Amino acid sequence: MRKISADYIFPIATEPIKNGVISVDDDGTIINVESDNQGANEHYEGIICPGFINTHCHLELSHMRSQVSENAGMIQFIKEILSKRSSFSEEEIQDAISIADAEMIKNGIVAVGDISNSIDTFNRKAKSSIFYHTFIEVFDFNPEKADETFETAKKLSTQLSTLNFELSNSIVPHAPYSVSEKLFRLIADEAVKKNSIISIHNQESLGESELFISHSGPMFEAFSKMGINMELIPKTGVNSLRTTLPKLPLSQKTLLVHNTFTTKEDLQWVKNYQVSSIKYQELYWCSCPNANIYIENKLPDYDLFIEENLNVTIGTDSLASNWSLSILDELKTISKYYPQIPLQTLLTWATRNGAEFLGLNQLGTLEKGKKPGLNLLKNVDGMMITEKTEIVKLV
Ligand SMILES: [Zn+2]
Repeated sequence: MRKISADYIFPIATEPIKNGVISVDDDGTIINVESDNQGANEHYEGIICPGFINTHCHLELSHMRSQVSENAGMIQFIKEILSKRSSFSEEEIQDAISIADAEMIKNGIVAVGDISNSIDTFNRKAKSSIFYHTFIEVFDFNPEKADETFETAKKLSTQLSTLNFELSNSIVPHAPYSVSEKLFRLIADEAVKKNSIISIHNQESLGESELFISHSGPMFEAFSKMGINMELIPKTGVNSLRTTLPKLPLSQKTLLVHNTFTTKEDLQWVKNYQVSSIKYQELYWCSCPNANIYIENKLPDYDLFIEENLNVTIGTDSLASNWSLSILDELKTISKYYPQIPLQTLLTWATRNGAEFLGLNQLGTLEKGKKPGLNLLKNVDGMMITEKTEIVKLV
């Protein structure tokens, strides 16, 4: 048994404990969290918090590190991904996946909600000490292809479960603009049938909203040029969030990823929509600040998220649009631009909320009987994380 103390312990389930001590079993199970550090056999300067939960990653894009131009906008990003993605060997792709998985472990990440379009990551996930929930992501504009696309996804899901039955997964839509009505229906029906969680990219660029509101803007232009029949994307007069949420089942927990351009009016609309529904839809709002800076050079309005009491989670997105796979690096970016956000709030986003969304009740908080992993944050400035803050995985 280890008795570990630090300047502060952030159990997240409660307020921070000054000079707290935490006792853990050899297998990492928490025996006790106490406020008196007498008897501790390890003491650290800094803060101890639960293992991090990364709710949005694309591990299979790890070989795209440093391949895509920074700050070039969403359209350029999509173009570069499509043109460069497949020009790598199987070995290069597999090596990059292993390195990225190891990087996340080192960075104190204990669970990941990971998007997959292919089988590339499945073997690594089966071996990793990280818990992975795989979101098998589908997209197709054409309703005539919906059945075929969905069947392919179901095969991927079976392959993953056959490899290791503990590898949970669900079939999810890519984004509001890339999935036909029919495909949305197939996804929604299956999610209800399997009682599974849903994830979808949301309001990552402004062009996404213009596309639905008025069939115009940069995304509309780019898709038209790519030869996509734009009649397949409905012009609804309302933005992507308002077009899409009613297509998703009210009964299933849903993660909206990015929300960079989500406004106060949108959140008001969501509230009204919830109130008018028979069932309250449990929504989680994932933020990937470094990816937002990498692609669009814009951050979401975190003050608004806090004001509206949203269940915020943190994601790294992929190495195609990020410099690292580190939840701490994401928190550093938020802290830099929003220094007023308390550390307890940031760490709640990075731990408990993600564990709740993924349904992992052994993770996310430091409580007796749980096995959440322990992260030490070194070089903190009082209760603030700074550029210099580092992470050490203690358990
Ligand atoms: Zn993504």
